[in-house]
Parts: sequence; C-alpha cells; structure tokens
Amino acid sequence: MLNKKTVDDLKDLKGKKVLVRCDFNVPLKNGEITDETRINAALPTINKLIREGAKVILCSHLGKVKNGPNEGESLAPVAKRLSEKLGKEVVFVADYNVTGEAAAAAAAALEDGDVMLLQNTRFRGKEETKNGEEFSKELADLADDYVCDAFGSSHRAHASVEGVTKFISAKGGTNAVGYLMQKEIDFLGNAVENPVRPFVAILGGAKVADKLNVISNLLEKCDTLIIGGGMAYTFLKAQGKGVGQSLVDDTKLDYCKEMMEKAEKLGKKLLLPIDTVIAASFPDPIDGPIEISVVASDSIPDDKQGLDIGPKTAELFAEAVKSAKTVVWNGPMGVFENPTLAAGTIAVAKALAETEATTIIGGGDSAAAVNQLGFGDKMSHISTGGGASLEFLEGKELPGVVAADDK
Ligand code: AMP
Repeated sequence: MLNKKTVDDLKDLKGKKVLVRCDFNVPLKNGEITDETRINAALPTINKLIREGAKVILCSHLGKVKNGPNEGESLAPVAKRLSEKLGKEVVFVADYNVTGEAAAAAAAALEDGDVMLLQNTRFRGKEETKNGEEFSKELADLADDYVCDAFGSSHRAHASVEGVTKFISAKGGTNAVGYLMQKEIDFLGNAVENPVRPFVAILGGAKVADKLNVISNLLEKCDTLIIGGGMAYTFLKAQGKGVGQSLVDDTKLDYCKEMMEKAEKLGKKLLLPIDTVIAASFPDPIDGPIEISVVASDSIPDDKQGLDIGPKTAELFAEAVKSAKTVVWNGPMGVFENPTLAAGTIAVAKALAETEATTIIGGGDSAAAVNQLGFGDKMSHISTGGGASLEFLEGKELPGVVAADDK
C-alpha cells in the first residue's frame, strides 16, 4: 500500500503554515462553476487542517492559460464557492504573480485555522509547467509543510506539484499527500494490484495510440479486457475485418495483433464489438441529427463508419460486467456527445450502476457520462483525474506521489 506520509502524519499543526496543492481545475461557464466535484473532493483535507489550527495556504491551476494571465482563468470564483462550502472566508490573493509580496502579506496575516487561496499557478507560465526552481522556492517560502491533494495534476512534474517539495525538505518541512490522493490511490491501486476477481477492465474513447500502455498493462492485471469506442475498429481491422470509413490507426495494426496474441497467451478474455452502429459520416455538429443503422462488426460497408457499439455488443459487455467483482472503466463506447450515438455508453454505465462489484470510473469523458446520466452515486469511485488515472492504470509512478516523503 501507499508508503508515503499523509496529512495524518503532519504533527503539531497549530499555527503552522501548510501549503496545499489542490486540483481546483473546475469547468467554468460565464464565470460560473458548472461542476463542483473537484472542490467537494478537496474539502476533507482542508477541513482537517482547519480543525488542527493550521494556517492553510491553497494553490491550484485552472485551465490551460494559453494566452497568459487573464480574468477568465482567475481562481476568484473558486475562492468564493469554497468560502461558502467551508462556512468561512477564504482570503483570495488575486495577484497574477501568484507568489510575491501580496501573497506573503496575506500569509503573514493568517490566524490559526484561516484559509487563503493563491492565484492560478499557471499564470507563471513555464515556471510552473517546466518545474521552475525560482517559482518552486517562492511557493515553499510561504509555508512550513506541504500537502499534495491534486490527484488530477499529480501526473505532472510541475513546480506546484513537484518542484516545491525539494525546497520544503530543504527547510526541514514535511511533504505529504492529502486525503483525496490517498482515496484515489487506494481505489485505483487496489483495483490494479490487488483486485477482487473477476476483474473486468473496459476501455473506450477515440484512439488506440492514446492508450497503448494502458491496454498492455491492464491485460496483465485483469481477467477480461473489453474494448469499445473508436479504438475498437483498429482491433477489428487487425483481425482482417473491413471497417469502412471508421476511425482506424493503420500504424497500430501490428500492436493490436500483438495485444490479441498476448491476451491469448495469458489466457485473458479480450472482448471486441460484435455489432456496431454505423452512419454515412461523422455527425456535424457533433450532437446534430444523424441517420443510423446496425450491422455485424464484420459487415461494415466500405462507405460507412462505426460510431457506437451495437445492442448485441452492449448486452455482451453488460454480461461480462454482471459476473465481475471489480470493474474499471475509462473511455466512452461511442460518440456519446450525440444522443443517437450514446446508447452503448449508457448501456455500459447502467451495467456498472446495477452491479454489486467495486466500480471505478477513470475520470474524463466516462466520469462526465456517468454523472450526466445520474449514476454518479451508484459507482464505488469516480476519479477526479482523467490523465492521472490513465497513467496510474499504465502502471506509471505519479510525480506528485513520488515527491511526497516516505513514511
Ligand atoms: P478519449 O478522449 O480518447 O477518451 O475519447 C473520447 C472521444 O472519443 C469522444 O469525444 C467520442 O466522441 C470519441 N469516440 C468514441 N467512439 C468513437 C467512434 N466510433 N468514432 C469516432 N470517435 C469516437
């Protein structure tokens, strides 16, 4: 299990300044937060630090900040919402410099149990994303101890995730992971390394190329690997089937063959779509009206493309889920943004909602789909990090975890 210091290992917190890297990268529409999952997920760690009388300094990135600092990507809306949720003021340091005089003054004015939030760490551009020493040190200068609770950013060696820990150590402070990180690692780690079997992994989404290492690693760990979505057509083509105009990566045909051989050698089941929903072209706009039909997976006409799994496949996948004790799912089964092409994704979400098995949703599109369908509370765990959970499922170590002090 996790051999890293956690927030529970931080001692004598009263009056201590603790810098917490959160993942407040929430979706915004016209300045309003449209999904608060990530704010809610950060509350246990923050509340624990408040209870212990620490001076809590929060930081996070928001958005990609492609064109430099701007009000549209300010963390101000998060500070406001967080204040409401915590029932106490969160002092927001609006300074685009993130650290510096304003931040230092706000930190110096904190009383025990107070909370402040720094501005969007990506406002420091490459200093943040390239793990800049100076910015890392400036962040560390604000605090005594550091907690990483930003699972969604923990796969990135950024200054506020990784660089900062070096300078906290240098001044004798402790680097720990927070409760959210702990929970994510427990669920994902147990599922992959110590699953109650049968363990069924479901992968979907657009491209095989994005999930090469995930496919390979999960094949070794699971009992059944299910592949749907756009990536399934490269597998079908590798089996010698005609896939018409479906999304295919011809450079990955050998890879798919290799994976099918690997499955056979390991005695693992690899399930691919047996029927598929086809249309004349990709919907434009993506949620626009579209005329569909259903064919067997080996009968896709040359001028048509597969855009969702068919009903027989949905049944096959649901059956596999029914007999599972652990299910991990990442990636939609079709172009689920279009209601006509969402049936496969909905069927899989429903199968997961109905099973008694431990169900883990690997963030991103599948998390959005599950939440939109109202199945969120039926899942054992919905990861707050799409990219991070994928890297975890690849078996990679996450910089945000590695950087924490060993127990
Ligand atoms: P990913 O980001 O890899 O998880 O892929 C998600 C995207 O894959 C969604 O936007 C889907 O619309 C898309 N997708 C799923 N199935 C297909 C398909 N059969 N053809 C093209 N795109 C697909």
